[in-house]
Amino acid sequence: MTSFDAHCHCGQTEWTAKLEPEQQGHILCHCDTCKYLSGSTFTLNQIIPTSSLNITKGASKLGKYTYYGESGKGVHCYFCPNCTSHVYHQQEVMGPDKIVLRTGLLTEGIKNFKPAAEIFGKAKLPWEKEVAQTFDTMPPS
Ligand SMILES: [Zn+2]
Ligand SMILES: [Zn+2]
Repeated sequence: MTSFDAHCHCGQTEWTAKLEPEQQGHILCHCDTCKYLSGSTFTLNQIIPTSSLNITKGASKLGKYTYYGESGKGVHCYFCPNCTSHVYHQQEVMGPDKIVLRTGLLTEGIKNFKPAAEIFGKAKLPWEKEVAQTFDTMPPS
């Protein structure tokens, strides 16, 4: 298990995430919500235990945005209230022990992690090339 540092764009929020070797890769999410929240075509993520994330600066000030996914359950997005960088998302459907971490904000992650899978491939833009195994929505569990 390795600890990875991260910070938001403005520096008001800092965090570390402990990742197992198999978690040291990006899950590309092509869903329409990710397009809105990022202003881009996909986001970079990894599902990790809640206890593996340690917000070392700005934790008490994080902003929270909640939307409701296809399941009808809430997805809570935590972000730096100053610069809006998203630190992590907590999906009610996954329970309190798991979160979705933005691997693209890990200082080493954005440089060195490889694509591990692509999800919500059904919403992928037609000009994007496949870079990893692609699932229509989520991988079968
Ligand atoms: Zn910030
Ligand atoms: Zn998404």
